[in-house]
Amino acid sequence: MQNEPAHNKVRVEARGVALAYGKTQVLRDINLMVEPGEFFALLGPSGSGKSTLLRLIAGFNIAQAGSILIDGRDITAVPPWQRDVGMVFQSYALWPHMTVAQNVAFGLEERRLSRDEVKRRTQAALDLVGLGEFAARRPNQLSGGQQQRVALARTIAIEPKVLLLDEPLSNLDARLRVRMRHELTLLQKKLGITTIFVTHDQEEALTTSDRIAVMDQGVIQQVGTPTQLYDSPANRFVAEFVGTINLLAGSIESETAATAMFMSPDLGRFSLPRSGDMPEHGPVQLLFRPHAARVRTAPDGDDALWIPGTLVTREFLGESVRYGVETRAGMLIADRPHLSGEPDYAPGQAVHLGISASQLRVLKT
Ligand code: ADP
Repeated sequence: MQNEPAHNKVRVEARGVALAYGKTQVLRDINLMVEPGEFFALLGPSGSGKSTLLRLIAGFNIAQAGSILIDGRDITAVPPWQRDVGMVFQSYALWPHMTVAQNVAFGLEERRLSRDEVKRRTQAALDLVGLGEFAARRPNQLSGGQQQRVALARTIAIEPKVLLLDEPLSNLDARLRVRMRHELTLLQKKLGITTIFVTHDQEEALTTSDRIAVMDQGVIQQVGTPTQLYDSPANRFVAEFVGTINLLAGSIESETAATAMFMSPDLGRFSLPRSGDMPEHGPVQLLFRPHAARVRTAPDGDDALWIPGTLVTREFLGESVRYGVETRAGMLIADRPHLSGEPDYAPGQAVHLGISASQLRVLKT
């Protein structure tokens, strides 16, 4: 089975998985479907259960309930070394006394492959990660990024059907992280291997992954493409964890077929176009992203919700400027692209924030 090529893409599935350490419930009713060849991220804050779920798929953890399936086969009771999964750890776990090639070859020798096959696969894996020239070095003669690639090569060399990555970039400095995440995405696409990637960094998840499961407190909050999560967060947690968001509390008072009347205790009434998934009545929150807010000295259009306020902070971010605006509904954030001709504003100035109805999303609270 180990000799099957990595392009034999498989689906990974978790069904009703629950896991507790003593009284601490770490994973609750996890249902997940990772499609063949997908680059799939588990994203969530520290302690949300991401690594526990990854280790469960690898076979290092045992769940109290539920099952794990690879390619439709229930592998819940199969030990890690018979699961055809490869895992790259945050720490890389390289042997310091072995050369790069020996580190990569180690797992292959354990699988009792012929000497020629070990050599061939070792070289191929090192070439793939761009370290063909470094085979004779020891890990301490490599940079952090190179060590990370050795760890990746070692895992790829065993040609697993599933690649599991546990915060593989978190030991690298900011610049290298960005470069490596790009390389990782290219490599994954080249290999086509089903990949599950654990990260607490939303930007990393959004830039690398085909789809993402957002986790909090052992529960999957939402699964979607980066765009779906960003544009249509299922709940407040996802809205706040993926990107920056503004929230306006209020309620839906009445509605017609085409519109709903939103009532904010701070801002008054505002008519919204109805959308299919909008709650009918009761308390809701209106959500909008900072770049959806126009900053003006006075309202300049009536398609939008206009919120008066005082600009209190201005942060120059290069591509954009971020304003903090104190309003009756609390502090709101507005981003404007830094383009010539765009008006700028200074702290202390009275402004209006305009948000087009199409940019507002309604969430039930
Ligand atoms: P994440 O990867 O999202 O940071 P983890 O899966 O590592 O989260 O941990 C989830 C929760 O499970 C945490 O509260 C952690 O303290 C707890 N936990 C993890 N491993 C163990 C263990 N071996 N024994 C007891 N508690 C654990």
